[in-house]
This record gives sequence, structure tokens and C-alpha cells, in this order.
Amino acid sequence: MPKQCLFCDSSVDSVEHIWSKWILQELKPTQAIRVQIRRRVDKYVDNPEAVVKCVCQGCNGGWMSALEVDNIPHMREMLHDRSILLNPVQQKSLARWAVLKAMVIEAVNRQRTLFYDDSERLGLKPPSPFLPVGTMVWIGRYSRKGFHAGGTDIWGDIDGTPKAMHGAVTSIVVGHLVIQVLTAHVIPKFGGNPVRPKCKPGAWDASLLNIWPIFGSVRWPPPLSFTHGGSDSLGILLNRWKIGTDVGATIPE
Ligand SMILES: [Zn+2]
Repeated sequence: MPKQCLFCDSSVDSVEHIWSKWILQELKPTQAIRVQIRRRVDKYVDNPEAVVKCVCQGCNGGWMSALEVDNIPHMREMLHDRSILLNPVQQKSLARWAVLKAMVIEAVNRQRTLFYDDSERLGLKPPSPFLPVGTMVWIGRYSRKGFHAGGTDIWGDIDGTPKAMHGAVTSIVVGHLVIQVLTAHVIPKFGGNPVRPKCKPGAWDASLLNIWPIFGSVRWPPPLSFTHGGSDSLGILLNRWKIGTDVGATIPE
């Protein structure tokens, strides 16, 4: 039985690369390093040529392609380690791109229950796209040129209620650009309150820039970069939400 497209009622009718041709072309000449992350990351794609069957040609060649094209100019700068000022419109577009990748990456393994639901997926589509409630997106700089995409699930207690929050963390490295997406779902009892999960301590304010929610223009790269190893390594970023079974979600004032 044909599978249904993640984003519409059409059947999946093509095999697509997770990564667009332009990214592969930009990365290939320099032999991008595959970032090997330990198995704690539940879903990951370190193969630039990875394909996934989860969308239809109409979506892939239509709004998804338009979103990709929209992000090429500023992504290309960061991928190649050139400083850039991102305005709020660019930040929203990049955050939307990253959330779309998060949804596609989690669909790589169809044995899993998908974290994002239909309304969140449909919300990404034009004409009035919106990002899932409870989503945060950060960008940073990797000192090398890397390639990685992976996702993992996290759970957190709220006010003593176990597993009141379920989150999905997706980390993406393309060239020198690092992107991390966190979407937090909370049980109805706490619905309507923005939840801010706690992560492991780190110099995150100096190594990451918030691009969603938007707080104004940001200049990439941030002051600190992620390295291949050591205390500022990329692995620490990828696992910063892994603090046992309880991420200690809190409801901000
Ligand atoms: Zn579709």
C-alpha cells in the first residue's frame, strides 16, 4: 500500500534526497567530514546521499523547494564560514527550514511513532506558515566543516508531574553551520504555558544564537565555536538535553 505524503493527502511517489542538491554540491568539493555521534542519538543521518520516501513530488517540487531556494543565499554564507547579519525574515525562513528537516528526519524510521503531528506539519505549508508551538531554534558555528543530522526524544517533569513534557531535539550540521531545533509538547494540564526545558550547563549564550523565537537581527557566527573534541565539542551540544530521564522543564514566569 502506498504511503501517504507527510504534508498532504497524496501518495509518496518519489525517492528524495534528504539534502538538496545545492547543499551536496556546496559540500562535496571539500570532502565534508561526517560527524560521528554516539548511539544515544536515536535517529541520525550522516550520509549526505541519504534518501527518504516520505513526501510527494508536488510538495517536494513545490513549497518545499521554494523554502529551500529562499534559504540558499544566507545558508551558503554560513556553510562556508562567512559572517552574516540575519534579519528576522531570514531567521523565520531558516527556522522553518530546520523544522521541516526535523520532520523529515524523524520519518526516516517509519517504525517509530512520529513526534510532530499533522497540524504541526500542515502548519509549515504556505500561504501562512507557522512553526509548532513550543519550538526553539538556535544556530552556531562548527570550527570544521561537518555534516550531520540527528534527532532524539527527551522527557521532563513539570511541577512534580512525571513526563509532563515530551520534546524532540534535532541537530543539524552543514558545513560550518550548526542548527538545533527543540519542540516541546506538554500534557493538557500545563497546556497554554510556554515551557522552557533546562539543559546541561554550558556557555550556550556565547556559542548559540536564538533565531526562533525571534529577538531581532543576529550576527553569525556567535563569539564561541564548537570544536571537534574537548570541552566545547559538538558532541556536548548534541547531547546537551540528555540529563537523565528528567530534563526538569520549567514554566517561565
Ligand atoms: Zn505532498
